[in-house]
Amino acid sequence: MAATTHASSMSFLLSHPQPRSATPGTRLPLRPPARRVRCATDAAAAASIKHRRAADENIREEAARHPAPKQGLSAWYEPFPPAPNGDPNERYSLDEIVYRSSSGGLLDVRHDMEALARFSGAYWRDLFDSRKEFVLPEIDPDHIVSLFEGNSNLFWAERLGRDHLGGMTDLWVKHCGISHTGSFKDLGMTVLVSQVNRLRRAPLSRPIAGVGCASTGDTSAALSAYCAAAGIPAIVFLPANRISLEQLIQPIANGATVLSLDTDFDGCMRLIREVTAELPIYLANSLNSLRLEGQKTAAIEILQQFDWEVPDWVIVPGGNLGNIYAFYKGFEMCRVLGLVDRVPRLVCAQAANANPLYSYYKSGWTEFQPQVAKPTFASAIQIGDPVSVDRAVVALKATNGIVEEATEEELMNAMSLADRTGMFACPHTGVALAALFKLRDQRVIGANERVVVVSTAHGLKFSQSKIDYHDSKIEDMACKYANPPVSVKADFGAVMDVLKKRLKGKL
Ligand SMILES: *Cc1c(COP(=O)(O)O)cnc(C)c1O
Repeated sequence: MAATTHASSMSFLLSHPQPRSATPGTRLPLRPPARRVRCATDAAAAASIKHRRAADENIREEAARHPAPKQGLSAWYEPFPPAPNGDPNERYSLDEIVYRSSSGGLLDVRHDMEALARFSGAYWRDLFDSRKEFVLPEIDPDHIVSLFEGNSNLFWAERLGRDHLGGMTDLWVKHCGISHTGSFKDLGMTVLVSQVNRLRRAPLSRPIAGVGCASTGDTSAALSAYCAAAGIPAIVFLPANRISLEQLIQPIANGATVLSLDTDFDGCMRLIREVTAELPIYLANSLNSLRLEGQKTAAIEILQQFDWEVPDWVIVPGGNLGNIYAFYKGFEMCRVLGLVDRVPRLVCAQAANANPLYSYYKSGWTEFQPQVAKPTFASAIQIGDPVSVDRAVVALKATNGIVEEATEEELMNAMSLADRTGMFACPHTGVALAALFKLRDQRVIGANERVVVVSTAHGLKFSQSKIDYHDSKIEDMACKYANPPVSVKADFGAVMDVLKKRLKGKL
């Protein structure tokens, strides 16, 4: 009998020794997972690699012990999308410091899929204690920089689905923001900083003075934490007054060089690209495709948590548009290698105040217009000129995907409704939820379909937005927090009076 799959960190390198059924807060799928027959050789292969990390063993020792297939797995950078008249053989080692193709386009990490496909889907399904083969096949375990990212809660949004979305029974929220620095950015940063660590150390010994990024807050938090853990200098460019206090304090506390610039994110992005072209500073933005290799593991983790049943829809809030492509890449890789037989339909959700992809989609993908993004409660996606727009289009076209938008009122209402069912969501999750509300209204998404909403950051990182929302002057907010705090004298009679008024009809 083949061993069953079990929980593992969905970061690319680690495992948390806990059985899935005991993961707190994680609900298993309602439908019983289909029984699968695995062939004997798969079972034998799986049995030989099923070691849990012992309590006294560190991450690097585990990765070193893990008997990865040695048959020449490799990955490299290729132009994205392939230039029609370009050199079909243009490719670069991941050890080169290169962010753009020779024609100035994007790059993508490509894996030797033939080498990976020598093993069956069942083999890979069983191998998820360590998936570096899917991410950075050639990293030396000694160079790994990890803060135990991944393994995030897949939350059954039972009450939100049932009471507020027309009796949905199979609605899930993937809490990617319940992570070391409070956002999904950790999944990509472990890969990028591990690779920089490899480059800086012998035998490569590249002269990289530090790692830099422009950020709407979460990238700088993640970069500074991983760099601090590895002893690598971090440099972050932030748009002044446009990020939350919680986001600002993280790079400061982690000892990064923080430049607060009098511009928006797109302005910070232009500056960091100029600076990294001039100085030996490695660029950590998601222009750098290594980040997306890590982020794609969230898709693989969702499949694993559903015991390799593919959800019907996955809704992702999008700003710079790397993550929507990363999800596609993770799902598609699992399909190509036979772990699953299809991919979900993807929805990219944008704030109406920063919606260049939505406009592009509505134009029938005819003309992309960068814009100056307006302020939004979903500040991490206030981006008017997304670096990965072409990547997003590939992801959406390949999955019969949809782009939706949400106004400030819609996104904050969706967020606070979710909060009232116990979610404590961030405004970006509110954008994705608002898209779900619309697609349910339009009957595009059915009540019985399995839907995963991707929550991108921890609600606590955006506490101020909840306060501002409560105090906001936006008229007709349908769903303001119903229970503002009441100041009461410390007196039994006064306390009883307030409770009787507040709980009228319930006592
Ligand atoms: C970065 C970020 C996003 C957007 O991801 P992209 O890859 O830039 O589209 C969404 N939500 C939060 C909280 C983020 O930090």
